Amino acid sequence: MSMFTSRDGLYARARKQFKIQDGIRLFTYSFFKQRRAEVQAFFAQIYSEAQASRAAPGHHALAAIAEMGRIKRHYTLNIDGLAEVVGMSTWHHELHPTGSTVEMHGNIRQLVCPACFSVEPLTRQAINTMKEQKAIQCPSCAADELRFKVMLYDDDQGDCITPEHVFETLEEDLQVADCVLWVGISFEQSASVEYFRRVRQVLASQGRLAACPQAIINPAEEACFNIVSSVCNVDDLQLLDVRTT
Ligand SMILES: [Zn+2]
Repeated sequence: MSMFTSRDGLYARARKQFKIQDGIRLFTYSFFKQRRAEVQAFFAQIYSEAQASRAAPGHHALAAIAEMGRIKRHYTLNIDGLAEVVGMSTWHHELHPTGSTVEMHGNIRQLVCPACFSVEPLTRQAINTMKEQKAIQCPSCAADELRFKVMLYDDDQGDCITPEHVFETLEEDLQVADCVLWVGISFEQSASVEYFRRVRQVLASQGRLAACPQAIINPAEEACFNIVSSVCNVDDLQLLDVRTT
């Protein structure tokens, strides 16, 4: 979501409202823990605005390719929930293991209980409760702490957003994939670099590095530069082709 870093984007708004030097702090787990009710109220505001965002041509193209049966799985770092809006099904390790989209960092349209991992849709009523800086009780286990199902930096409760099962599924998918496409990822964030390394590691352990090439699809040159400079075993890396559009 580019609005995170744009001039009048979320970080700027966070900085102003919370009088903090760097807006990114608001999206860290330690800050959330300290000022939970206030931060939830802020998230309720920005995420209810973000829900108005519309699917782009890329989302529709993805859904069309999935419809043709050409995608084993779509792993997304986006939290806007737009893949589901264009008709792709969301993966869940128990409820929907055949779902096509794995939301690695959560979904702004959902709340989750860190105690029992129950997921609830974000309702208008929940938004209003959070804006009043009140806690929302979990309907399943009655714990008083539903939170946005969105990954924060260094999130101690990350397990309820990206359960470990995701990586088991990733390994199974890599066993049969004939190509991995990294679409629209700049590799500026450490999380995405970490995923790239993990995929290479898994492919290497499966002896499939050559059988399953990875392509980076990004109009910005930095993406390729960032990822190549962050790989430790450069000798291992076979750069097949670099093209600009
Ligand atoms: Zn619960």
